[in-house]
Amino acid sequence: MDKKELLKQTELFVLDMDGTFYLDTQILDGSLEFLRQVKRLGKRFVFFTNNSSKSPKTYIEKLERMDCWIDRSQIITSGDVMIRYLKEYYPGKSVFLMGTPDLEENFRESGIRLTKDMPDVVVVGFDMTLTYEKLERACTYIRNGAVFLATHLDINCPTKDGFIPDCGTMCAAISLSTGKQPRYVGKPFRETVDMVLRLTGARRENVSFVGDRLYTDVKTGVANGAHGILVLSGETKKEDLAGSDTVPDAVFADLKEMGELLATL
Ligand SMILES: [Mg+2]
Repeated sequence: MDKKELLKQTELFVLDMDGTFYLDTQILDGSLEFLRQVKRLGKRFVFFTNNSSKSPKTYIEKLERMDCWIDRSQIITSGDVMIRYLKEYYPGKSVFLMGTPDLEENFRESGIRLTKDMPDVVVVGFDMTLTYEKLERACTYIRNGAVFLATHLDINCPTKDGFIPDCGTMCAAISLSTGKQPRYVGKPFRETVDMVLRLTGARRENVSFVGDRLYTDVKTGVANGAHGILVLSGETKKEDLAGSDTVPDAVFADLKEMGELLATL
């Protein structure tokens, strides 16, 4: 399918944020115009981020400062996918959460039973408030039989000053200590696509995941029966494509270029 045909077929764009819609606190040129074109054509968009350190509310406020106004239904995080996963597979079970106060609030508001004592399940998020005590407890609980889950597999998180260790790195420390591997949700896993489809009612073949990473954003679409579109405004450079197992359905310079093509439809 050519690029124009793919955009025409897409009814729902699932947008990554950092490296795709903005860079850190700076909105990328053409992002708002892209959204305008999506709306003009009667298509829809939602944002999806693997970053579980902040709550949806925090992202809504961040986007508002960029003059992008969305409601709660238009933002999904890997934390939301984990909440849904817990309700489906571990209903009523107690959870020890290694996460930020933002994520804790998100879990608590959704009715997840959090505990500091021996839980049924340990959930690891992108915990920017990590302490040795939390790490030690998580390891002890998992060693004693708690289920080991994690919101997303990202090893590093890009910032304007370079990389900082993300959820996958924290899980690696726990795995090294306990010999146990986590079950991840978030991008690129099926649970994420299923949740997007359930929340939006969109059909799989009319959904395109758009982002700057091949192994998370693009893979989510192409590995799960939807589409994956790569933008070169963030982490991935054109030359990275040659060595990648994940082949995007389309590659654009940025959302600006996507918006310009949408304008011709
Ligand atoms: Mg990104």
